[in-house]
Amino acid sequence: MKKDLFDFPVQYIKGIGPRKARLLSRLGIKSIYDALYYLPHRYEDRRSSPDIRSIRYDTLQTVMAKVLSANLVETKRAKMKIFEAVVTDGTATLTAKWFNQPFMKGIIKPGISLVLSGTVKKSFVWGVGYEMHNPEYEIIENDSQGEKIHTSRIVPIYRTTAGLSQRMIRSAMYSIIRHATEEMEDYMPGEIVQRNHLPCLRDAIRNVHFPDHDDMEELLRGTSPYHRRLSFDELFMLQTGLAILKRAQTFTRGITFQARGELFRKLLEILPFQLTGAQKRVIGEILSDMKSQRAMNRLIQGDVGSGKTIVAFSAMLQAIESGYQAALMAPTEILAEQHYLNLHRLAEAMGLKAALLTGSKRDKPLEEISRGEVDIVIGTHALIQKGVEFKRLGLVVIDEQHRFGVLQRALLRKKGANPDVLVMTATPIPRTLSLTLYGDLDYSVIDELPPNRRPVVTKLYRPEQKSLIYSLIRSEVKKGRQAYVVYPVIEESEKLALKDAIQGRERLERQFPEFRIGLIHGRMKPHEREEVMERFKRGEIEILVSTTVIEVGVDVPNATVMLIVHAERFGLSQLHQLRGRVGRGAEQSYCLLLAYGRLSEEARRRLQVMVSHTDGFRIAEEDFKIRGPGELFGTRQSGMPDLRVANLIRDAGLLDAARREAFQLVEEDPELKRYPQLRSVVARYWKDKLEIFRTG
Ligand code: ADP
Ligand code: MG
Repeated sequence: MKKDLFDFPVQYIKGIGPRKARLLSRLGIKSIYDALYYLPHRYEDRRSSPDIRSIRYDTLQTVMAKVLSANLVETKRAKMKIFEAVVTDGTATLTAKWFNQPFMKGIIKPGISLVLSGTVKKSFVWGVGYEMHNPEYEIIENDSQGEKIHTSRIVPIYRTTAGLSQRMIRSAMYSIIRHATEEMEDYMPGEIVQRNHLPCLRDAIRNVHFPDHDDMEELLRGTSPYHRRLSFDELFMLQTGLAILKRAQTFTRGITFQARGELFRKLLEILPFQLTGAQKRVIGEILSDMKSQRAMNRLIQGDVGSGKTIVAFSAMLQAIESGYQAALMAPTEILAEQHYLNLHRLAEAMGLKAALLTGSKRDKPLEEISRGEVDIVIGTHALIQKGVEFKRLGLVVIDEQHRFGVLQRALLRKKGANPDVLVMTATPIPRTLSLTLYGDLDYSVIDELPPNRRPVVTKLYRPEQKSLIYSLIRSEVKKGRQAYVVYPVIEESEKLALKDAIQGRERLERQFPEFRIGLIHGRMKPHEREEVMERFKRGEIEILVSTTVIEVGVDVPNATVMLIVHAERFGLSQLHQLRGRVGRGAEQSYCLLLAYGRLSEEARRRLQVMVSHTDGFRIAEEDFKIRGPGELFGTRQSGMPDLRVANLIRDAGLLDAARREAFQLVEEDPELKRYPQLRSVVARYWKDKLEIFRTG
């Protein structure tokens, strides 16, 4: 392959030119590479060419015929120019009409043969007789052996833009693909192609755009061997980049933490519980990373309530005992505040100093951090802003990572001299997705809940059943437990007519005059929020009304009721997170989903999943199925290259294979020296992104 084939601007391909090139560039097609991966979004089967006599009305048909007569007709009333051609194949005639395209007169002339493809209508003049309106057409040249592009085959349909007709883009793609495949060589190592039973690149490109393949189902689903080859390639590029990244990190010298574990032992003494087996195992994995010379990059996955915080804290102690500072970054202020409330007490009990640093709050001057007087800094992304300096940042813990991008991870790292990084995610994500989002990290999973946890009982209620909800809340609070009531928005939004939390609180106060009811929401000042949380923790508030600010991380084991109002408005992972706020103690807990109005099919599915499953991984898989990967993936946020061809649900099996192959290849040939073409394709795929990672 010529080195710059992929980069070749489509403008210079015969038959394109500057005008079409401009239109194509609106679709993001500038180079040959862009065009090859601009896949048809569907296909039309225009192969069959039955006798005109036997075609059916209101169906898409393709016929081959000769033009008997052709006329441009001008209607007086509508001032419309209609070009009409009457054609026949000897069995019957058909009238093709093109509206306001007078130039057709110069193209379709009596005597020529052509193929027409379009929906067959009844003639509206006669009530019988076949018509096609604005059909796709293709002239059959006398002695032409040329391949048909628009008819007589399975035809690609592309997404297009104003000024660029389907016919124009299809012709352009045809020229580009013919040009490109002539010179194209396969960049993929032959063994990989064979081992995975994939067709060669050239066949794949040709068939995806202008299929010879005749299985329409497979084409439409994107599962033809040719689609699979392109999906494989894309996933392979992605995984090869991740493999290179991971390898680079393996050789990045990190801090060798020397601590002997005094602080950790002290922690075990003051903890009111025993660590679970899974917690011990994961702490062990982390500590051995920390002791080694290489920089740690580890993802900890664990369902809500599995006890990730204490695992992170143990790692922090190891860093501190070795003479470093540790930072914990959370995605929201309220979660940072929560972590701070929980951890600073533990920290102080062990003679350590913790600080809180969020956008609106810092409880200690920045100098204390830069002078190294603070051991643990807990905060939001404010931690990675300019002006925040650490003296000796040794460990960075990122909680609820799914909200942070790869880039932010890199930025935080730069705050120290290559500190170890621990990423914790409470939202379990399907394996296929984690392999992609976190494919560069080592991975530990806390797959065990603390003992004596009972699964939360989840029930769906309709507004008529509110009294059942109230009596459950009443009986729980009377037993000394506490309840959350969560609303989707803070203020009445007329458009959505949602009950807002403020009104909700008033209603609850009328309903439960004997109980103390608190309110917390994202627009409160941090110290107000902190005060409300403290009172709830101390049991001075029995029912806490809130917006979704308590979604993640809040931990009050005595709370046993989670009422979610307008549950139909929440996403699955959000519902699961919210439910995770209860069931944290030994008592039976309840999650009450109150749904209003007619439920959409999707909402019904979501709520049903919540009622029937408690396992976060299972829920994540379902969520993935309902919402699709795009939304979950959040590529812009994650800093990963986009997936243009592959689909993480459809191609989960391919992802596994691509990952295995990619990691093996990078293991054997870390710089892809034996495959220079592959190397440049991977570099192109990741563009500047790998660079970004490197500087992290
Ligand atoms: P998450 O993984 O959702 O962040 P947390 O770290 O907030 O979970 O822990 C949930 C609750 O379980 C907390 O109250 C915590 O103190 C408690 N916990 C953690 N580990 C254990 C354990 N091994 N035994 C009993 N309770 C535990
Ligand atoms: Mg947590």
